[in-house]
Amino acid sequence: MLNKSLDKVLRTTKIHLGRLELLGVKTVKDFLLYFPRTYNDTREFTKIAEIRTDEVCTIKGQLTSLFNIRTKTGKKITRGVLTDETGTIGVVWFNQPHLTRMLPRKSEIILSGKIKFAFGKITLQSPSYELIKKEEEQIHSGRIVPVYHETEGINSKWIREKLKPLIDYWIDLFEEYIPEDILKEHNLIDFKTAIRCVHFPDDPELLEKSKKRLAFDELFLLQLKVLQKRWYWQNINKKDSKNIEIKKEVLKDCIDNLPFTLTNAQNKTLKEILKDLGKPFPMSRLLQGDVGSGKTIVAALATLNVVKNGYQVAIMAPTEILAKQHYQGFIKTLKAYSLNIQFIAGSTSAKQKDEIIRQMKTGTVDIMIGTHALIQERIGFRNLGLAIIDEQHRFGVKQREILKSYDSPHLLAMTATPIPRTLAITVYGDQDLSLIDELPKGRQKIITRLVPEKKRIEAYRWIEDQVKKGRQAFIICPLINESDVLEVKSVLKEYAYLSEHIFPDLKVGLLHGKLKQEEKDRIMEEFNDNKLNILVSTSVVEVGIDIPNASIVLIEGTERFGLAQLHQFRGRVGRGEHQSYCFLFTGSLSEEGRIRMKSMEKYTCGFKLAEIDLEIRGPGEIYGIRQSGIPDLKMASLTDLETIEKARKSAQKIIDKDPKLENYPVLAEKITEYEEVYVQD
Ligand code: ADP
Ligand code: MG
Repeated sequence: MLNKSLDKVLRTTKIHLGRLELLGVKTVKDFLLYFPRTYNDTREFTKIAEIRTDEVCTIKGQLTSLFNIRTKTGKKITRGVLTDETGTIGVVWFNQPHLTRMLPRKSEIILSGKIKFAFGKITLQSPSYELIKKEEEQIHSGRIVPVYHETEGINSKWIREKLKPLIDYWIDLFEEYIPEDILKEHNLIDFKTAIRCVHFPDDPELLEKSKKRLAFDELFLLQLKVLQKRWYWQNINKKDSKNIEIKKEVLKDCIDNLPFTLTNAQNKTLKEILKDLGKPFPMSRLLQGDVGSGKTIVAALATLNVVKNGYQVAIMAPTEILAKQHYQGFIKTLKAYSLNIQFIAGSTSAKQKDEIIRQMKTGTVDIMIGTHALIQERIGFRNLGLAIIDEQHRFGVKQREILKSYDSPHLLAMTATPIPRTLAITVYGDQDLSLIDELPKGRQKIITRLVPEKKRIEAYRWIEDQVKKGRQAFIICPLINESDVLEVKSVLKEYAYLSEHIFPDLKVGLLHGKLKQEEKDRIMEEFNDNKLNILVSTSVVEVGIDIPNASIVLIEGTERFGLAQLHQFRGRVGRGEHQSYCFLFTGSLSEEGRIRMKSMEKYTCGFKLAEIDLEIRGPGEIYGIRQSGIPDLKMASLTDLETIEKARKSAQKIIDKDPKLENYPVLAEKITEYEEVYVQD
């Protein structure tokens, strides 16, 4: 019933209905769930004796006179006098001559508007009005008044007028769907009251309670969904679970032969992963660690362990450069074990691909490393034991799901984008977390400076100096859209300028997304071998690239990048033993930009920056929330840790009892609204 189309219940024009639809409102339910954007508290009437100019005020009084006049230029003006027990004030409206017919005289009326001082007089200008009818609830003034997102032809007043009777009539059809004990535990009001009062609150306290309740609902459903998903992943796939033992000797041997000792955090996370692999259901774990914290080696050791159990491992990275780097890195780290390690990406020829796919299917490939080419249709594995996704936030949910669908392997996702705890338990709530919270010893703090334009040349000389000491530098230019020819041109220009005029004696390379793969490989190799001193690049170097000898990164157009991304760029240096530097240049700086750049200078910890980013920009852009399919939350905030934790605890309780929600049909139905998001099973 609540899904009744509005054209059946609203007396209004087709045009208005169309406009409502633009606001996403088609049914009665949509309308009732179209929550206010904010509120005006007009509970206190202003006495006329106390008004001040330029203030918005709401006055209750009587219109003691009201008439239309026409100015010399033909404008229609309505003038009146409003009187209350403390005094009188002139009122004026423009171009609304019908008001003289609509507004009563000598009976109470409420006018709300701005007080202006003009032509030597204080007047109330173009106020909105509300007539006082006995027995009827006031909805536009004299209370906490809801203000909605508006669109052309649909303003808040219109919405209030149409919505109020609908709420009164339909509200009882809303069912409470959150179990009583949960409501009690968190001191939440009932659903109906919350809906009614979020629109037309009786008092501020009830308004707060309504918002709190509705915010809880959103987070609770979200948690229910991720926890159910987690339950399915662990239980439905139980029967296919790969039992993987810990091969202590092999691991010890490999670790002993590394050129470094593992950090405690690396050891700890490796243990967590190995333990999961032995469990009777597939792992779903997110390995989080700041840039440079050494996630790759942890993944490589887990890989070795799985391969030694006779299973295949797939590793997927978001860019070909990064996938190639992993390929080379794995070959080096694991060379003692004569494994068949293969690489596949967009640039792999069809013939090679066929051969690799054949080997994957017959099981002769032990480790398959590549880009999303790994999840093309024709690809299959003989016995995939572990799937690793590097920089997981760069992939869509779909891509992750496809990789998982090859025979339900254990899943290890990695990300260098630090995820605040709030998001870790919502957006990534179906995964267990491992955190590498320590950098390898001897890493120095990267010195970061926002450089004013007039010091540009000095910065270049600094780079030259460093290069003479044997170091290397990245210069990163913004390129928002890889297909944008103009922007590629701008990098080409910058490259030409730098190589000819600024660093004529140095070897400068250029890297951008439009280059052929072989070309990219060649350049990365040259840079890696220190045959290039400086690499001018677009954001293709953003993730993962590991060149320990590089010690300077200069970033142009920083206003175009988010903090998380800047932090990623910066993470390209400071990976070896050399003191490293990050120079930030900016075209223009808004107030927000200034805060962001100051944060870059001040904090080297990705988590702190991620939190700041989250506050400034919201989670959508940073974490690809939209592509991860989290629905737009209307009331809840993804930064509200307290409510998120409460919601998670309650949701967990239900899933523990009844994972399929068989006894909670309404809840089960509610979370199907999230279904398009999580294509599972
Ligand atoms: P990320 O976590 O950003 O993926 P990487 O795995 O690329 O980081 O590691 C960064 C660099 O640190 C690599 O050169 C790697 O060899 C090195 N590294 C990893 N672990 C250690 C360690 N325990 N001690 C010293 N260097 C390490
Ligand atoms: Mg990495």
